[in-house]
Amino acid sequence: MGYDIERFVGYVNEGLLCCICRDVLEDPLQAPCEHAFCTACIHGWLVHHNNCPEDRQALDMSVLRHLYRYMKNDLNRLQLHCKNGERGCEMVCSLESIDRHERECEYSQIPCSNAGCPVQIERRNLDSHLAVCEYRSRECPNGCGYTILRAEDTQHNCVAELRTELELLRSEMICRVEEAKHEMESRLDSQRRHMVQKESLLQNEIEELKSQMSRMMSEVRSLMAAERQHRQELEQAELEKRELMELLKGLQKDCRLNNTEGNKKSTNFRPLTRLESVKRKPREVTVI
Ligand SMILES: [Zn+2]
Ligand SMILES: [Zn+2]
Ligand SMILES: [Zn+2]
Ligand SMILES: [Zn+2]
Ligand SMILES: [Zn+2]
Repeated sequence: MGYDIERFVGYVNEGLLCCICRDVLEDPLQAPCEHAFCTACIHGWLVHHNNCPEDRQALDMSVLRHLYRYMKNDLNRLQLHCKNGERGCEMVCSLESIDRHERECEYSQIPCSNAGCPVQIERRNLDSHLAVCEYRSRECPNGCGYTILRAEDTQHNCVAELRTELELLRSEMICRVEEAKHEMESRLDSQRRHMVQKESLLQNEIEELKSQMSRMMSEVRSLMAAERQHRQELEQAELEKRELMELLKGLQKDCRLNNTEGNKKSTNFRPLTRLESVKRKPREVTVI
């Protein structure tokens, strides 16, 4: 539908009127026969017709084109009153910029911004409506901390609200505790597994050390036995040495005696045979 011609200031060229609604063209389209229409008007017409409503020439959607540029410019320059003129808006501006004005016009009817409120109100009065709107929210006057809509005032029950909240918090808390417990358990479990592993490692090490130790002990024992043996042998040798020394002293004495006698040669052999017999004697002693 076009713009009401009554809203326009001054003369409007016939060519800028819609052939269907006879108002000033809105979103204009042009037929090949050069007749122009509002987009909505011609679309509506072509649902039931297939010709130009002005001259009955064949017409369909596909041949509709934009308006000639010079006509479009003429259209855009037309001056008109704001659609809210009857409500008091005195704005007059070009057709090109009227949409922008009307979107922001203080006299435009808009819905209340509170959800659920059915009130339609002029933009300039919105603030005063919001102050008394039944659907405005406010804090509960009883101090439960809830924000409630004015319209729900009578149904608001602080205790019930708080109880619901409490239940919610409680179940959330239980959930969180369970989670924490779970995590703790799994952590403990892994630590336990780790400990068991470590313990068996240590056990192995201990076993290894024990066997090393017993090997060393037996080595020490055999070394000590060898040492004892050695010492016994040394003692034995000492004993033999002492005996030999005694014997030697005895022999030396004999020799001196024989030399003073001076002549018998055969006596030289006697001490040697005696020495050899003594040398064998210690072996018999160790057996005893
Ligand atoms: Zn029209
Ligand atoms: Zn036509
Ligand atoms: Zn306005
Ligand atoms: Zn409201
Ligand atoms: Zn309350």
